[in-house]
Amino acid sequence: MFEAVAQFIDDNVNHSIEALKKLVRIPTVAAKGEGLNETAELVEKMLQDAGLQTKIHQTTGAPVVTGWLNVSAKRTLLFYDHYDVQPAEPLELWDSPPFEPEIREGRLWGRGVADNKGDATSRIWAIKAFKETSTKLPVNIKFVIEGEEEIGSLHLPEYTEKNTDFITADGGIWEFGGAGVDGVQEAWLGLKGIFFVELEVERLSRNVHSSLACTLPSAAYRLVWALNTFRDENSRILIDGFYDNMQPLTQAELEAIEKVDLHEEEFKDIYQIDEYLNGLSGMELKKAYYGNPTCNICGITSGYQGKGSMTVLPSKASVKIDFRLVEGMHPDDIHKKLRKHLDDHGFTDVRVTYFEGYPAAKTPIDHPFVKVVEAANRRVFGDLIIHPTSPGSGPLYLFNKHVPMVSVGCSDHLGKAHSPNESISVENYRKAMHRIVAIIDEMSRW
Ligand SMILES: [Zn+2]
Repeated sequence: MFEAVAQFIDDNVNHSIEALKKLVRIPTVAAKGEGLNETAELVEKMLQDAGLQTKIHQTTGAPVVTGWLNVSAKRTLLFYDHYDVQPAEPLELWDSPPFEPEIREGRLWGRGVADNKGDATSRIWAIKAFKETSTKLPVNIKFVIEGEEEIGSLHLPEYTEKNTDFITADGGIWEFGGAGVDGVQEAWLGLKGIFFVELEVERLSRNVHSSLACTLPSAAYRLVWALNTFRDENSRILIDGFYDNMQPLTQAELEAIEKVDLHEEEFKDIYQIDEYLNGLSGMELKKAYYGNPTCNICGITSGYQGKGSMTVLPSKASVKIDFRLVEGMHPDDIHKKLRKHLDDHGFTDVRVTYFEGYPAAKTPIDHPFVKVVEAANRRVFGDLIIHPTSPGSGPLYLFNKHVPMVSVGCSDHLGKAHSPNESISVENYRKAMHRIVAIIDEMSRW
């Protein structure tokens, strides 16, 4: 099937790697607002070279690049990718400069190769292979490539809300994925939601001499007491109504995760722990990993934390908290419940600032498109481990109502996304292009 297309991919791996290197050379760091327009234009050019029609959609943030090829087929396949990357710092930890990509030991090194410029390029080149070999595509193709994924996709709703027709498709491939520690490919069907807040307490007009702690109130203790009402010693979240709308894992999901190996013992070693939270193991650990929301302290600040001692009674205390949300929970609802919980417990003086939030989303594990991806993966890589959701978050909820998404990609456990020495295996990259062709083939027969 599609021999000429497959041959083109193998004969042109180096050319597509050159195209990827060109993309990686632009330091598209969304957090610094660098190179966004320049990269959007290059991505548009790559889509055009692959035979797609294109448009750049301006938002109040980074532009969204779309590409499409309508061949009047029954099925439509959509790709979601992003052209922005994480900052490369600390630069001194890189073995080669992050924005001067190079190949060593069968891997391509550079910021963004694993997350997500490599995936974006491999997908564009898989489509280009059809054009270059004059092979008719058996499915319609759409690309949505945004530029703010690494900073919470802040302005993506401006595009998705106005373009629901465009983001409607029979199946979609989400941005990330790859091989796990044992080399087996993994697919992710969902992402948890997030609700990120800062809590602040102010009890005095200024920091004062700590001897006065015998007569003056402590902001730091106020905050600690408030935090102490959020979770019990078994890590159960005590905010009234927190778990009310939460949807449990389905029977099909429970059956699927029974087969997944979370490499419990290996990660105990990596994290240097004797046991997981509440002594979780086996199926109970998996249920928590895929199905539990969190209430996590990201950082606490108050008073003096410098060298040596300084006797001070701090006037203020603050904490940043992220809640990971599962299906059924909404950040606006949790926001209200958090406020009410604080008030009901006498903490009306604790200010809450809402930074970001969006709900979880998942593709049902028994959706036929999941079978399409599984069959295609089998033809190229072999086994596929299916995770009902990632414990991480992403803007999947913007697409999920319009297209079932599965996340598979060209990365692996050595990829070091978001860290120094990010890399991909060139062989995985080549095979990921073949898997796209196989997905297209399987999809045309669905
Ligand atoms: Zn990322």
